[in-house]
Amino acid sequence: MADTVSPRDGTAPGAAVWEYAPAPQEREIVSIAPSYGLFIDGEFAPAADGRTFATVNPATEEPLAEVALAGQADVDRAVHAARTAFETVWGPMPGAQRAKYIYRIARIIAERAREFAVLESLDNGKPIKESRDVDVPLASAHFFYHAGWADKLPYAGFGPDPRPVGVAGQVIPWNFPLLMAAWKLAPALAAGNTCVLKPAETTPLTALLLAEVCQQAGLPDGVVNVVTGAGETGAAVVSHPGVDKVAFTGSTEVGKQILAATAGTGKKLTMELGGKAANVVFADAPLEGAVEGIVNGIFFNQGHVCCAGSRLLVQEPVAGILLDRLKRRLGTLRLGDPLDKNTDIGAINSAGQLGRIRDLAAAGEAEGAERWSPACPLPDRGYWFAPTLFTGVSPSHRIAREEIFGPVLSVLTFRTPEEAVAKANNTPYGLSAGVWTEKGSRILWLAQRLRAGVVWANTYNRFDPTSPFGGYRESGFGREGGRHGLEAYLHA
Ligand code: NDP
Repeated sequence: MADTVSPRDGTAPGAAVWEYAPAPQEREIVSIAPSYGLFIDGEFAPAADGRTFATVNPATEEPLAEVALAGQADVDRAVHAARTAFETVWGPMPGAQRAKYIYRIARIIAERAREFAVLESLDNGKPIKESRDVDVPLASAHFFYHAGWADKLPYAGFGPDPRPVGVAGQVIPWNFPLLMAAWKLAPALAAGNTCVLKPAETTPLTALLLAEVCQQAGLPDGVVNVVTGAGETGAAVVSHPGVDKVAFTGSTEVGKQILAATAGTGKKLTMELGGKAANVVFADAPLEGAVEGIVNGIFFNQGHVCCAGSRLLVQEPVAGILLDRLKRRLGTLRLGDPLDKNTDIGAINSAGQLGRIRDLAAAGEAEGAERWSPACPLPDRGYWFAPTLFTGVSPSHRIAREEIFGPVLSVLTFRTPEEAVAKANNTPYGLSAGVWTEKGSRILWLAQRLRAGVVWANTYNRFDPTSPFGGYRESGFGREGGRHGLEAYLHA
């Protein structure tokens, strides 16, 4: 039986409560309030000028809640609260004490995992099996991992007495709302910094639930502040003179604007920007595994992934058979209700993003590539895009060069390993890549030549808090995760 989602009766007036799963013993429930305030200095409060915006369920286009829209006065207040907390409580606190709070946050996320997963799928549109099995456990793991560092910073390799930077202004995107919040907050807190976090306009709800978790964990007031809003709120955070460190994940275009806005200010910066990764399949690769890796590489999270394997480079002798198998596999993917546990492909996060994907797919056809999708009925309401692949793609096509950020794969072929390297590196980005071959020596040969921050071998889209992640060139700079990720939040 398919899972159902329906407002539950008997709730507080105005509150929508969503049920997920058919049997009472399996029900996962999250309460969504009609409206949410900003989280500043340990309390939820409306914006100073009372402005709000709606966040929408992209699978149904129905509003989920009204959320406060932070203006300059609110950002000022949040930065002030973070500064005070940094100077009076969090900065001076021994690392072992900080660790206790961070462990507590990790544990509460794990305890409230189902609530987080349902909320994330409702607000973002991603399949519940991904939010349940990837986003939420990894978010908790990031806090657990970084809690372990809080009292060991002198041994992290950044000098005998590394100091926190101060107030971190952190701006995150909509593709992994909770996970990106965890990637930003956990290392910052472990290193002794305080934070002002700006979630994406279309996905603010799990960051606000995380703020509630901070309250529940007894985190001192002002250590974490969450200011919801749109691009102007993000701009106010990153350019605020009271912010010492800026961490941004999002588009290369906005990353460049932030670089311009912060030039000459002395702020520490990390930029995790776009990508156009090559997933390279050699003729000797285990093809069944490669097909799964290709699907995971580009159709995981509807392709809303900065490191998505959006360019498949396949060696000519196996191109035909691989494409046949890939098409057969795509025919088995289930697109639809994100809260159905069997769904593989959920909703596109917003009407704007759907428009961008449609435009680029249309450009692919106009430039002469051949478009293919399996038979895939789309729901009447909501934002949807069928899994799509393009063959006959040339490196000059827009679909081979630009980040589509949707479930669209561009397929190119190569003959020699040298040609694979040349085509894979023919991009202004440098975030990630994949290689599929049974030869270990070929993996190492290729990995040394690929200009990418992360290279996966015979797998794809694997993440771990202990492992540094980041790119170079137009994919940004700095690392997040692992020992390397701490550096951005420390003065040696
Ligand atoms: P953005 O880069 O605009 O958004 C990322 C974050 O930055 C959001 O919180 C956004 O706020 C905020 N922001 C927007 N403008 C500014 C600014 N001037 N100063 C500071 N912060 C700002 O991505 P979009 O959501 O517009 O997506 C556009 C395209 O970007 C996608 O199609 C995709 O190609 C790419 N993208 C790449 C990501 C990645 O991880 N590599 C992530 C997201 C997008 P708000 O949401 O309120 O606008």
